[in-house]
Amino acid sequence: MHKLEELDPREKKVLVRVDWNVTIGKTLQIVDDTRIRRTIPTLRWLKTRGVRQVTILAHLGKTGEEQSLMEVARYAEKLFGQPIKFWQTLEQCQSDTESRVKMLENLRMWEGEDKNEPGFAEQLASMGEVYVNEAFGEAHRESASIVGIPQLLPGYAGINLEQEVATIRKVVDNPERPLVVIMGGAKVDDKIKLLDMMSHKADVLLIGGKLANEFGQRGIELTGKAKIVVPVEGYDLLDIGEETQQIFHDEIAQAKTVIWNGPMGKVEEDYRAGTQAVYEALIRNKRAFTVVGGGDTLAAIREEKQLERIDFVSTGGGAMLKLIERGTLPGIEALR
Ligand code: ADP
Ligand code: MG
Repeated sequence: MHKLEELDPREKKVLVRVDWNVTIGKTLQIVDDTRIRRTIPTLRWLKTRGVRQVTILAHLGKTGEEQSLMEVARYAEKLFGQPIKFWQTLEQCQSDTESRVKMLENLRMWEGEDKNEPGFAEQLASMGEVYVNEAFGEAHRESASIVGIPQLLPGYAGINLEQEVATIRKVVDNPERPLVVIMGGAKVDDKIKLLDMMSHKADVLLIGGKLANEFGQRGIELTGKAKIVVPVEGYDLLDIGEETQQIFHDEIAQAKTVIWNGPMGKVEEDYRAGTQAVYEALIRNKRAFTVVGGGDTLAAIREEKQLERIDFVSTGGGAMLKLIERGTLPGIEALR
């Protein structure tokens, strides 16, 4: 993986893939801006080193939902302190050679993105001379903007992407033990496969959220040696109960390393007590190195306004879990 410091961006046109896939609240406010904030150092780094033009590439929401990134661009330019010229069509964006910083509309509005169509990757690549991946949360997808472009242009890892990869590899390969892994949330099919692998790496595996419901209903057995802890209240829960919260708390209190992904309950409908209890257990254990990831997990605990008290906040949910599982990601391999 080539690092950003290997790049001399002076007078170059640089494509930067960011992960600004943030949760947009009911009144369109951005619920959690961590993903945007964490890309700013790379953008500033390029700017202070005399880059000619930056083209920002990003996506928002699921394929088919076609939400606009315009509001996100407006928000990001305030954090960046630099105007971002926003273009809705590829043609407009391609022909803008003047703007210092420009941005294309939600990549998922083009079919070629998810399908990694070579023609689409070429269109994107035509806007730059080098490529920077600062989208850790998307580095597990083989899309045009993640793996297609770096086949056509020299590719570099953004500052945040590099730090995320290094930190996650360290806590998984060489954690201070006991390692307690907490998994929840709803992406059940993705996560159930990972649970087994986690049962080999962790000392204790705490399972909550919808994941725990399915885990119990399907009667899944894990092959690793980890101690497996599931909610005592049953398998049709909207949140973990008080007794489970206490059990999880006591396990977390013993840990030297904690990895957490996925809310413990249906947080959007105010089933938040379990997630809050886990969060409090994490920050109460001052000896442990704590790592938390996942879009919905961060949005849920962001409201506690104490995200700083977590040692490392990963901007990737699926990407973090895949990196733990495989030790690498397609987007990382593409930067060789
Ligand atoms: P992350 O984005 O942090 O990786 P997921 O996307 O896997 O997490 O899951 C987040 C979703 O899981 C939230 O929308 C939350 O409401 C839902 N969820 C968690 N527990 C439950 C539950 N017990 N019942 C229904 N939904 C749940
Ligand atoms: Mg999610």
